[in-house]
Amino acid sequence: MTESLVGKPLADLEALAEALGEARYRGRQVAEWMYRKSAPSVAAMANLPKAFRERLARAHTVYGSEIEREETAGDGTRKLLVRFRDGQAAETVWIPGKARLTACVSSQVGCAVRCNFCASGLKGVVRDLTSPEILEQYFLQGVRTGKLPDHVVFMGMGEPFFNAEAVYGAIEVLIAPWGGALSARHVTVSTSGVVPGILEFARRGGQVRLSVSLHAADDAVRDGLVPINRKWPLAELADAIRTYQEAARRQVTFEYVLLDGVNADLSDALALARWVRPFRCSVNLIPYNAVEEFPHRPPSRDAARAFADRLREKGVRTTIRLRRGSDIAGACGQLRLREEKTP
Ligand code: SAH
Ligand code: SF4
Repeated sequence: MTESLVGKPLADLEALAEALGEARYRGRQVAEWMYRKSAPSVAAMANLPKAFRERLARAHTVYGSEIEREETAGDGTRKLLVRFRDGQAAETVWIPGKARLTACVSSQVGCAVRCNFCASGLKGVVRDLTSPEILEQYFLQGVRTGKLPDHVVFMGMGEPFFNAEAVYGAIEVLIAPWGGALSARHVTVSTSGVVPGILEFARRGGQVRLSVSLHAADDAVRDGLVPINRKWPLAELADAIRTYQEAARRQVTFEYVLLDGVNADLSDALALARWVRPFRCSVNLIPYNAVEEFPHRPPSRDAARAFADRLREKGVRTTIRLRRGSDIAGACGQLRLREEKTP
């Protein structure tokens, strides 16, 4: 079986070039083709000697996975289903914005957290993704669209801190000057509240951003929505975020899915405002994207707006996420889910 090149650090590519009888700088050229110029294959790396390309291609491909399916929403959002070598699949989303282009990537197939509104967690976790598999999602977007995103968010399937080593490995390549050359400040890891993961993130320092999926400022409500809250309740979560902010002095974003009748009343907005007030933060409200298997519904537009206004009155920086790509089942885990239902 061939080995894929994506995810290999520069030093490995240089060593590989040498092992194949070439000068080391050929390894840097391979990195450039792969990480900057979105070459779809070894054959497309035009300035490499033909003989080297042939030797390299004998045992290597750039990617190990394939884009099996692609959907584009009315607003330009593209959702790709990436099929890995072992037949598992994960989804990645390409999100054009006014001033930025964002890639949303998955860190696991399925998710062990099993939030009671999320399609990704319906069947628990299937497996972790490797660093190369995480990176493929990003770099294949470039192959497909001709343009590499300048922001990456770990907000696809999976809990990044339950697969932290692979996530950190992928981030290293994304921000390396010889790799994706992204600004670390343009990379965001989103967690459902894995306290040891947040503390490790704090210890690592660096400029990568943190987003916490809060969804409730009350333990009883959060226990029902995000089951790991029973293990790491809100007070512990707050301590971890405090530790992080003391170490990193960075702003945190709180994600909050609005579920009608569950966490979207104005009294919930007040409780949320109280909970987030000690932090340098902003709140990102996400009107729920309905998933058949769960009974939840998003609140009305007016109710969502009133919720946001109440937070703002209390001095909390608040955005409401545009319903990007909702016509292609934009929320995480939904494309793979549909794929399973329609074989
Ligand atoms: N597992 C991580 C990151 C992936 S989920 C986490 O939970 O933070 C990215 C965001 O999408 C989370 O805030 C999650 O709660 C939210 N989400 C999941 N399913 C959703 C749905 N059906 N509608 C709206 N948001 C959803
Ligand atoms: Fe997992 Fe995040 Fe979905 Fe919860 S919201 S099940 S943590 S992917």
